[in-house]
Amino acid sequence: MAYSYEAPVSQSLFDRASVVTPGGVNSPVRAFRAVGGTPRFMVSGTGPYLTDADGREYVDLVCSWGPMILGHSHPEVIAAVQDAVSRGTSFGTPGEGEVALAEEIVARIEPVEQVRLVSSGTEATMSAIRLARGFTGRAKVVKFAGCYHGHVDALLAAAGSGVATFGLPNTPGVTGATAGDTVVLPYNDLDAVRAAFAAHPGEIACVITEASPGNMGVVPPADGFNAGLKELCAANGALYISDEVMTGFRTSKAGWYGVDGVRPDLMTFGKVMGGGFPAAAFGGRGDVMAHLAPAGPVYQAGTLSGNPVATAAGLAQLRLLDDAAYAKIDAVSAELRSLVGDALTKEGVAHTVSAASNMFSVFFTDRPVRDYEDAKKQDVFRFTAFFHSMLEQGVYLPPSAFESWFVSTAHDERAVERIAAALPAAARAASEATA
Ligand code: PLP
Repeated sequence: MAYSYEAPVSQSLFDRASVVTPGGVNSPVRAFRAVGGTPRFMVSGTGPYLTDADGREYVDLVCSWGPMILGHSHPEVIAAVQDAVSRGTSFGTPGEGEVALAEEIVARIEPVEQVRLVSSGTEATMSAIRLARGFTGRAKVVKFAGCYHGHVDALLAAAGSGVATFGLPNTPGVTGATAGDTVVLPYNDLDAVRAAFAAHPGEIACVITEASPGNMGVVPPADGFNAGLKELCAANGALYISDEVMTGFRTSKAGWYGVDGVRPDLMTFGKVMGGGFPAAAFGGRGDVMAHLAPAGPVYQAGTLSGNPVATAAGLAQLRLLDDAAYAKIDAVSAELRSLVGDALTKEGVAHTVSAASNMFSVFFTDRPVRDYEDAKKQDVFRFTAFFHSMLEQGVYLPPSAFESWFVSTAHDERAVERIAAALPAAARAASEATA
């Protein structure tokens, strides 16, 4: 595909980066390989806008893959960070900020009786799984195809996100023994979960699922799916782990738990709770968390866990996320979904706008998408054309057909109008695209 626009400064930065960093990026999806073209190197962000190294401004519908729920450079978050930084950046001791952030999480999310702070979503899911294995004395983990839980060895099998974007069935470097303890099942299929428990009696430590998946595109759980998982886990002595790294503090004040009310044994968080800094967490039932060192025997630690600057940013962000903030994000998301759907319908492009609360994505197919196999059947080449047209017109979408789009409280009428103005040409590009 040829691109009619250029980004010379980003291109020269990418050339430099490619010499010293594999693929030129520090996280694969950023490299634009799925859509082609030059990844944009961003230099600043304000509200709903990002500015790249060539001086072009974009309405941002990625929001750093979820964390920037108040938009970029929110003055109160920045002030909290500046205040924290002025007192030092890391002490390697306990501090009040991490207590306050843990209290905020426990207050918002009722099933979380205790929480441990870590630095990334990957660390959160990795630690939750270790804890589940330590608590149950069992080895096997059930996960669902298309769900991404970070780059934890045991969870990379048939994962979504970048793994879906690059069509990797699995990744070299994960040993057979590790993968052998992971049972991968189709999403939204309770019969498959029932069968797995029957096939591995007394061996399954936990079932981990995205609370509402966003890493194969947005594919919400079918009615009763999460409740069914919880029931099957309870009946078979396994823990139900709800990964809310993406949905947590985004899909409602209490994340996806606030939407479906199904009570997990353990939960994982990241993204929004760090306010744009590396902060994440796992937590849940007090009796399970009591197995974690130093209270119990399951080891887990981190030099920068509970970092004072990250916790200050996260706490400031969470405290601003009140009912009015969620109402605003939900409304902007609904408006954008209808604008995108109308534009594609007008051009006769087969599509499904799939939403879970305010998270949404567009599948370029009109067949229902209930799992990863369905998601893969879309016309990805139409997304590519749509993406580049939007980018050229100053709208920054996730550079993959298998990712959620994210909005923030900062997406105001002006930002929405800019997106609306770009949609007709992008829909036309999608309609004219060829495989
Ligand atoms: N879990 C989910 C549901 C995610 O979406 C992600 C990241 O996208 C992770 C875990 C991993 O988080 P991190 O990238 O912070 O390691």
